[in-house]
Amino acid sequence: MAADLPGIRYSIVVPVFNEAAVLPILLRRIATLMAQLDGAAETIFVDDGSSDCGSIVLQSLARDDPHYRYIGLSRNFGHQIAITAGMDAAAGEAIVVMDADLQDPPEIVGEMIAKWKEGFEVVYARRLSRAGESGFKRGTANLFYKLLGRMSSVVIPADVGDFRLIDRKVLDALRRMPEQDRFIRGMIAWLGFRQTEVAFHRLPRLAGESKYPLSKMIRLAVNGALGFSDAPLRLAIWFGLAVSACAVFYGLYVAGLWFTDSHLVRGWSSTIIVISFLCGINMLMTGIMGLYIGRIHAEVKRRPLYVVSQRLGFEREPEQGRAPSSAAVN
Ligand code: UDP
Ligand code: MG
Repeated sequence: MAADLPGIRYSIVVPVFNEAAVLPILLRRIATLMAQLDGAAETIFVDDGSSDCGSIVLQSLARDDPHYRYIGLSRNFGHQIAITAGMDAAAGEAIVVMDADLQDPPEIVGEMIAKWKEGFEVVYARRLSRAGESGFKRGTANLFYKLLGRMSSVVIPADVGDFRLIDRKVLDALRRMPEQDRFIRGMIAWLGFRQTEVAFHRLPRLAGESKYPLSKMIRLAVNGALGFSDAPLRLAIWFGLAVSACAVFYGLYVAGLWFTDSHLVRGWSSTIIVISFLCGINMLMTGIMGLYIGRIHAEVKRRPLYVVSQRLGFEREPEQGRAPSSAAVN
């Protein structure tokens, strides 16, 4: 699909879920953006199972105007999968992912492209402020990014959503990560490459309501935490050790009491000590099993082991009969 259209320089991917209310303005802003770009551009709308009239508008646009493409998913798969579907179909050398509700202003894309031309392969947009979002959403997002930052083995930038530009190379690598529970901003962070940011003030949603209710936010957060950290699996080990250690200390304390206090209730302390010690051991073993499950978890994700950013010198075949230069020196 992608290789069929070599002339396209920029692909803009927009996931759309029941966004009819913003479409008129969105389409105008995207048209303005594409007209300003210095190369051929396409906009791919991924209709994530919308049930409003927006689908018809986008379909007819894609039929009439070669700048627009439409991918209709069979049902609502969720934001992250919609983005994946759009990126899989993108033909451009630089791919921009942008929300439909104009909380991500298309005007920032120009700045992202400038950074891309400087040689950065991932340019993400950092939210300096989040207007129009509830204190609850801002608070939970803040907490989530803090926790994830501590737990994760890769640096996932805080206050960054999926509004970003990625180079073709990054996209090709991302497409080799077929994992089911996707947390794309984490996956791109994991990939590495030269990354930078542009800052922007996140605007309130232009129209309509957020399509991210608490349940979807929690699912995204769980995907982020489980996909990029095995700290939750190790928790049981520490709990187990702590409980068993408490049992041992308590046992020593009670043993001390035996010598001094004759009014001890017989049998109670020993029962409690045995139970809590064994509980601790139990948790410890669960934690150890967690470590193994963590390994399985990493395997089944089938992520590539590494991602190559540049390959040099491979295009030449070694000349017959000529020694390698280091051998010639010796
Ligand atoms: N979206 C989607 N599928 C969903 C939920 C959201 O494609 O199941 C799209 C939505 O149309 C928008 C983007 O993802 O373009 C971000 O969603 P939203 O603005 O509702 O999220 P918020 O900004 O409130 O976190
Ligand atoms: Mg939004």
